[in-house]
Amino acid sequence: MTETEDTFLALDIGGTNVKSGLVTRGGELKKHDSFPTSDGKSPAHLIELIARNLKKLWNESASDGRPKALAIGAPGWIKPKEGIVVMAPNIPGWRDLPITRLMSQALDIPAVLENDANLYALGEWSKGAGQGRDNQITLTLGTGVGGGLILDGKIWNGSFTSAAEVGHIPLVGNPRVCGCGRVGCLETVASALGMASIMKERIAAGHETLHRGDPNKIDSKIMMELAGKKDPLSLRIFREAGEAMGYVLSFVFNLLGLETAVIGGGGAGAFEFMEESMTEILERHVVTAVMSEIAVVRGALGGNAPLIGAAALLNACGH
Ligand SMILES: [Zn+2]
Repeated sequence: MTETEDTFLALDIGGTNVKSGLVTRGGELKKHDSFPTSDGKSPAHLIELIARNLKKLWNESASDGRPKALAIGAPGWIKPKEGIVVMAPNIPGWRDLPITRLMSQALDIPAVLENDANLYALGEWSKGAGQGRDNQITLTLGTGVGGGLILDGKIWNGSFTSAAEVGHIPLVGNPRVCGCGRVGCLETVASALGMASIMKERIAAGHETLHRGDPNKIDSKIMMELAGKKDPLSLRIFREAGEAMGYVLSFVFNLLGLETAVIGGGGAGAFEFMEESMTEILERHVVTAVMSEIAVVRGALGGNAPLIGAAALLNACGH
């Protein structure tokens, strides 16, 4: 008789999509699904859809036994211990939402809450590009720049669960206004959205580019294609983003003595175009270790990283 491994449910709630998964205790993603966040017509309706979606995954995999627990990754301002989403800027109406209690009641299993970028980092640490390195940071380049910090093999949340908000570390001389209302934040130049905005502005200002067609349709994917064809404008913007990340990462490496930075999220597709300028700055500024022992690498798990990280979180919580 073969012994079946314990399974967990995993949830990654984003402003665009809600992703769900069934993952083994060892971090193998057995099944996953997703639906647009905008399908939820109200906060309560969205919760209902999420519960239905998780139950569907569960039922489809009845042979794997009853999942032991659920890990929820949520964006915005959360209180993990209390299980509350205080505010999620990209999900209308989500204020002071006791999501852990609601999901736990709907599914009748224990649930835990964590920041989405932290779950992403746990995924890369346990099964992805950061395996075997217990002091590391993951940057996710998407709408913003998320950060997940792992110290001594554990997520570091800080006193106000505001740790690793690297996207809002300011860059000297950067005049751009961030979505958070502050000026100069890293994410204005290094997020997928920020890079696309800069590209549009520079096209309007007459910078030379191979891009033809409607500049308003430019996103980081189009920029990556252009960069692959040696488009000077997109290559320059990626190089500048690499430099900006290099400065912020130098600061973080020097402060914490980390060994690895993992670059994930949709914008990480441009890693090859950012790597050189980023490494140049790191070589110039990192003093905490021998450069050859530091690794700045592209994430290996893509968008499923948070679902895989759910297993690491639930193991760490004793489920
Ligand atoms: Zn900011």
